[in-house]
Amino acid sequence: MQNDSLTGLLGFEDFLSLAGAVICDNSKAYLIAAADVSDFHFININHGYDTGDAVLCDIADFIKLYLPNVVYACRSHSDHFIALINIENIDSERVFNETYRLKERLKEIISKRAEGISPNINVGIYFVQSEETNIIAAVDKANVARRTSKGNYKLPCVVFSEHLMDIKENSAKILPLFDDSFRNEAIRVYLQPKISSETKKVVGAEALSRLIDAEGNVIPPAKFIAALEKTGKIVELDFYVLTYICKLIRKWLDNGIEPITISFNLSRMHFYSKTLVEDIFELVEKYNVPPQYLEIEVTESVFFEAQDLIVRKVKELRDYGFKVSVDDFGSGYSSLSLIGVLPVDVVKLDKSFVKESLKSPKGSDIMRGLINILNEIHLEIVCEGVETKEEEKVINDCGCDEVQGYLYDRPIPTDEFEAKYIKA
Ligand code: C2E
Ligand code: MG
Ligand code: MG
Repeated sequence: MQNDSLTGLLGFEDFLSLAGAVICDNSKAYLIAAADVSDFHFININHGYDTGDAVLCDIADFIKLYLPNVVYACRSHSDHFIALINIENIDSERVFNETYRLKERLKEIISKRAEGISPNINVGIYFVQSEETNIIAAVDKANVARRTSKGNYKLPCVVFSEHLMDIKENSAKILPLFDDSFRNEAIRVYLQPKISSETKKVVGAEALSRLIDAEGNVIPPAKFIAALEKTGKIVELDFYVLTYICKLIRKWLDNGIEPITISFNLSRMHFYSKTLVEDIFELVEKYNVPPQYLEIEVTESVFFEAQDLIVRKVKELRDYGFKVSVDDFGSGYSSLSLIGVLPVDVVKLDKSFVKESLKSPKGSDIMRGLINILNEIHLEIVCEGVETKEEEKVINDCGCDEVQGYLYDRPIPTDEFEAKYIKA
């Protein structure tokens, strides 16, 4: 056995053989964490190689002393560290919280060693699947996650999913475009109206983003949201959209126009940021926008992930005065008992659910029953994806409050939306 002479941790080869044997025993749950220090070479360049070496030893000592439940850990090369961790009885929320806490502590240690440097630590996590017996493949997956976490300062880590592999290729095309987009105004915010079933008036709108490529083609969210989520860059996009709609509402108010409520989508990734709530408050206060004009859409499945954490943050946002909606309800796990306890105002029925329900009399009955229950617990209901008069009629008969769909309008550029729907 040959340990790393600098840090005393295992060498990579030994790590692979020891950890490889452990993951073959699938009676326990493990994760592999891969970490590196952003721009480590700056430490070497600016503070000298001795300081660089001391930082690497600090990290190794930190792993030995503070990283809980480590089975094996190694320095694979340079500033890259890998650990196999036992996560028996530990849920993902705790993993995120712990990662956040440990990263902050490690950053402090490094800043003390290399004064003036406050590096980010990139962390990728792979929750080892029970059928996974190939340690090299498992370490690769943690590394894919680690690489996608680069440049993302708000999130504690990126977790590997197969989806990450699929979007790797797409990301290579999308991400450079996105990086330039703030400069080139290549991100556009479109608005789609929400219509009151009772008055047929436009009572709100949803902000949806579009990316414009070099040839001027409009790229829909289906092509870029996943790539941005996996790299954490979605956080920037959503704040860009929120800033945009805050400015728009401010403009309406300054021109004496009573604003309609505009909703925006908040990706699941935000909820792992410690400062989410404060960041949103700060922005809204900067533009002096009363929060009742803003609605936050959180997709249904997010509420099933780290439930307590998310419910707490959503509650803080709602207590401040924002409206909160559960987006895409009926598209996945949908649980009525959960809806009952969530701190939300609006349920948006997903277009796939709406379409399926309208296919048969039984489906329509189910939808009617669902809307009745949601009404009973004082939730507003918005039906998405309404495309025909016939659909609208059934939906209205079921007691839905608002509709959003191509029947009325597609998402359109803001200036077009203002010309059509906002009367000065
Ligand atoms: P979503 O939040 O559920 O938004 C509604 C989607 O349904 C929009 O797709 C809208 O164009 C589409 N839609 C509305 N009415 C109809 C209809 O009658 N028929 C059909 N076939 N579709 C309709 P879009 O704009 O392509 O956005 C897709 C998803 O991407 C959104 O689903 C949302 O989850 C996400 N997204 C879009 N912009 C953003 C953003 O700025 N931030 C985040 N985090 N997510 C975004
Ligand atoms: Mg939405
Ligand atoms: Mg939706």
